[in-house]
Amino acid sequence: MPKNQKVCSHEALELEPSAYAKEAGFVWSSPDRRLAATTKSGRNPLITKGQNAKTLEVLTQDSASKLSSAFPGPLVLPNDELALNPKYPPQSFRSWLNESLRKNRKPNKRRQTLYVATAPEITSSVGFMKKWLQPHVKKGGKLMAAEMLNSLPTEDLVNFTGAFYHGMPVKAFPHRLQFVPWDEPKKSGKRDSNMDYVGLLAGNNCTRIRARPCPDGTFGRQLNLEDLLDAAIEMLLGDAYSIILLFDHDMYEDEDDDFCCGRAYGGNRVAVVSTARYHPALDDHAEIDFAHMWPASHCKSYVDSACTLEGVEPTPKKTQRMDDALGPLQAASEAAGNLAEPSTSEDRKALWFSRIARTTVHELGHCLGIDHCIYYACVMQGTARMAEDVRQPPYLCPVCLSKVSHAIACELGGRDEAGKEEYVKERYRSIANFCESWKQVGLFAGYGAWIRARLEQLE
Ligand SMILES: [Zn+2]
Ligand SMILES: [Zn+2]
Repeated sequence: MPKNQKVCSHEALELEPSAYAKEAGFVWSSPDRRLAATTKSGRNPLITKGQNAKTLEVLTQDSASKLSSAFPGPLVLPNDELALNPKYPPQSFRSWLNESLRKNRKPNKRRQTLYVATAPEITSSVGFMKKWLQPHVKKGGKLMAAEMLNSLPTEDLVNFTGAFYHGMPVKAFPHRLQFVPWDEPKKSGKRDSNMDYVGLLAGNNCTRIRARPCPDGTFGRQLNLEDLLDAAIEMLLGDAYSIILLFDHDMYEDEDDDFCCGRAYGGNRVAVVSTARYHPALDDHAEIDFAHMWPASHCKSYVDSACTLEGVEPTPKKTQRMDDALGPLQAASEAAGNLAEPSTSEDRKALWFSRIARTTVHELGHCLGIDHCIYYACVMQGTARMAEDVRQPPYLCPVCLSKVSHAIACELGGRDEAGKEEYVKERYRSIANFCESWKQVGLFAGYGAWIRARLEQLE
């Protein structure tokens, strides 16, 4: 959507999937199924003995409507992941818990640390790799060099991840990673040092990484994701639950994709993220509407206009209940809505960081065995492109939250159900503290306000 659009006041919020969702064949799971998806038994927790069906339905509807002010449905706008894959299978808490692969990968006291490794050093013998970091944008049909930003602060990323996975130790990976030359022996017997391969050195271990020219020209060359994931597997330390590697270089997964941003091998508990495409200089190219990133992505007139563009009649506006109007999403929208577009490179770096932080915790969620979420707008939703990425929230929905809190509070911390509820609040406070120091950025300002309102609801 063009930048020069008139200023939107985000008057009403959309708490349900857009009108387009239906068109795409996405059927939102019922309130009963959504509640049931959070429990061990797989049954709606509001069911009691001797209750008649009507009472249960009323209770369920009421509970769903109260939850919606904090946990709206997935937006499902045109070309969003769930619009393209509307029948993606749900993973309830129960199915996550009973996942056979997961049984061997529960966090335990010996294996509980999450390691975060930020961009490797580019050694002088592969100095050409620095040029690959330069983003380019199309201007008047020509590719022009855009602003470069320095690498992200590892410490802040470690702190955010530590708050998000409160209760799991999160550390910076202790070994400095380095890019070094990789000499591939040629069939003719001659050795040829070219730019098709580079080496990624971690301690004594060097992995060959393929590099190819970037198809859309946004960056010079991009690195092969599979090779980077293989390198990550080699780096898992004995006490590591998982490792996530961040690269500032653009990445690709296979021959016919343009680029990819991140992937986890959940079974191996490793993940790789590229920060390249999250660069704010590329926002216009990625059709990102700054004014409607999360939480303003739930602005009803924004959602409606996306539907209208595809010729789909928007859903009529619902009258919001008083307690909805004061709910967490509304609080988030107000807190983030007061912030201006970033004007300095420091601001742009902070915006960039907020996106990477969200993606980092998403990928680590996969390492805990969590699949993409179809129940609510959620940090664990799959995403089809950058514009969708920035519309998604940083929080875990009730289903995904019950998985994370079970893994950390119960499996790792040995707590019971009541302890798990306490854990949820402790975790929220820990994230809110982090957000407080980053409230110049919309995502964190919104998340902090969302948490404070959610804690009020819980207390
Ligand atoms: Zn994912
Ligand atoms: Zn979820």
